Amino acid sequence: MTKYLLKCKECGEYGLFNPEYKCRFCGGQLINPKPPRFSMVDKYAKYRIQYFKEQFKNESEKN
Ligand SMILES: [Zn+2]
Repeated sequence: MTKYLLKCKECGEYGLFNPEYKCRFCGGQLINPKPPRFSMVDKYAKYRIQYFKEQFKNESEKN
């Protein structure tokens, strides 16, 4: 059964596989929580790092 467990990329909640790949919590898209290594992961990681950098900058400017 665990292979049908997917993770929502919008809210991060786990959900069971369904034909629409739709999150039951927020309606977001469900993705495989352990994707194979491919270039898209690196692309997203870069955006994520950029996002956290911005967040950190905003936080430090507040104080
Ligand atoms: Zn969701």
